[in-house]
Amino acid sequence: MPELPEAETMARDLQRRTPGLLIADLLAAYPPIIASDGDLFREILVGQTIVQVGRLGKLVRFDLSSGAAFFAHLKMTGQFALGPWPGSLEGHWPPHARVAFLLKGVGSTTTLFYKDVRKFGRLRAFAADKVQAYVDGLALGPDPLTVDPQIFHKRLSAQRGRLKGVLLDQKIVAGFGNIYADESLFAAGLSPLRSAASLSEKETSLLLTEARRIMNESIKLRGSTVDNYQGLEGGGSYQDKHQAYGKGGKPCPKCGQPFLKVAVLGRSTVYCPVCQN
Ligand SMILES: [Zn+2]
Repeated sequence: MPELPEAETMARDLQRRTPGLLIADLLAAYPPIIASDGDLFREILVGQTIVQVGRLGKLVRFDLSSGAAFFAHLKMTGQFALGPWPGSLEGHWPPHARVAFLLKGVGSTTTLFYKDVRKFGRLRAFAADKVQAYVDGLALGPDPLTVDPQIFHKRLSAQRGRLKGVLLDQKIVAGFGNIYADESLFAAGLSPLRSAASLSEKETSLLLTEARRIMNESIKLRGSTVDNYQGLEGGGSYQDKHQAYGKGGKPCPKCGQPFLKVAVLGRSTVYCPVCQN
């Protein structure tokens, strides 16, 4: 959490509200969130205008007027919120706000807060000539919303690991986390324990179709609010549509048998032993 649909919702909210605004100042109440050198982070960002906000896998990317960019790796509980400028580290900060960006527009001032309950998220900024090297270094796999089905098949079928673990590996395909992996595998009737290499082209194609349907529906509903996730313009409601995720022991909606809960690579995994093969 947040996964592709939640990062996409945040990026779209930010894209509606922040392009054209100048980053006039910033404060870090919890400096370790800034993974770049703190002085360099400030030097790269302050004085620049936000040009565009988008998503890269599960990351949110801000492009700035100088060609520089900064990236938010949201990890467990990272999110953004708007509010008034706290003025200092002793000023009024919203709960769990770790970094504050003072944004100035024509006749308007607002503050973009990076909030993170668990504090595992990281912000990184790169000068224009370093951005591409950072993106290349992430070595992210293709995006499930746009990847060609044949490429998706090739990437999965090259992996001997269990399907669930392969889907979570951002270098193979970028965007799945625990929620959308469990939901997509249930919808496609595929066991998370199968070797990814054993999937036929028909099976990977069905998995991709179901993953896209689920992620696109979730984006329409502003993602899944599990734990504390909120976009700038409020939380999501896709959690009400979850079929399998988090439902270990409950009856499968297709066959009525109880869902099993197992660990795959240390990640809690829920599946129906009857419907998922
Ligand atoms: Zn079932």
